[in-house]
Amino acid sequence: MRVGIDIGGSHVGIGLIDSDKIIDTIDINLTREDRHDFFGSILRISISSINELLNRNSIDLNSIDLIGIAAPGDIRDNKIVRSDNLGLYDSDIAGKIYEYFNIPVQVRNDAKCAGLAEMKFGAMRGFNDCVFLGLGTGIGGAVFLNGDLLKNGTGFEIGHMIINKGGRQCSCGKRGCFETYASIRAFKNKVAEVLDIDNDFSGQYLRENLLDFDNPKVREVIDQFIDDLIVGISNMIDIFEPDVVCLGGSFSYYEGHRVFNELLSRIREDGRVRCSKLPKIVLAELKNDAGIIGATIE
Ligand SMILES: [Zn+2]
Repeated sequence: MRVGIDIGGSHVGIGLIDSDKIIDTIDINLTREDRHDFFGSILRISISSINELLNRNSIDLNSIDLIGIAAPGDIRDNKIVRSDNLGLYDSDIAGKIYEYFNIPVQVRNDAKCAGLAEMKFGAMRGFNDCVFLGLGTGIGGAVFLNGDLLKNGTGFEIGHMIINKGGRQCSCGKRGCFETYASIRAFKNKVAEVLDIDNDFSGQYLRENLLDFDNPKVREVIDQFIDDLIVGISNMIDIFEPDVVCLGGSFSYYEGHRVFNELLSRIREDGRVRCSKLPKIVLAELKNDAGIIGATIE
C-alpha cells in the first residue's frame, strides 16, 4: 500500500493507494495563513493527514511501503530545488517526512506524476507519443516518446515557453511565458479583472458561474485564453508530433464545456497548427487524482 501527496499552490491532496486504486483521500485548501509558512504547513498537513488516513481505514503504518510526493517546479536529488509557484527553494520535504515515518519517500514534478498516471491508467493509455499539459496555478508538462517519459527530473517546463516576447511578467523571472496567459490562474485573474470582482474564487466557480459567453468583456477574455492555449499546444504538436495531447489539472473538468468545444473546433482552423495530421486532443480522465496516483508510480 502507498500514500500519494499532491502539493499545489492553493490545495493539498493526500491519498491512500492500493494496487493503483485510491482507497481514501483527504483534500485540504490552504488558507492565506498556511501560505505564510508554506514548508511548515505542508509538513504538518502531510503528517496529520497520513495519520488520519491510516486510522480511519484501520491500516498499520508497516503496510505502507512508499510515500510519493507530487510538487510543481524543479525536482533534483529528491529535493524541491526550485518551485516559484510554491515559493520553495532547496526544500527537503521528503527528508522531513522520512524522518517522521521512516518509510521511503520520493518526490517528482507534479505534471510528470499526472502524465505518468494518465499514461498508465487514464486518457493516454495505449498511445506511444504523448504530450501532457497540466493547467492549474501554472502549466506543467510531461512528454512521452515511444511510451517513455522524457526526463524524470527537471526539464520540460512547457509553462515557461515564451509565447509573447516582452509580455506578462512570470514568477520565474522571464516575460511572456505560456502559463502567464493560459494557466487557469491567469484565466481566472483576467475574468475577475473585467468583472471587477475579487479573484478569491475557485476554479469550479469560474467554470460554472462566470464564463458567460453573452457578456462581451468575458467573451473577449475567453477568446484570448483559447487562442493562447492553442499557440502553446500548436508549438508542442510541431516539436513532438504526438499521437495525443492530454489537457489535465483543473482544465480536465471542462468536458462538454463550451470553452473546450470551441478549443477543439478552432484548433482545426487554417493556420493554427502546421502538422498535417492533428493529434487527438483529450481531457485527463483521472482529474485531480492523477497527481496523487502518479506520485506513487516508481
Ligand atoms: Zn515563466
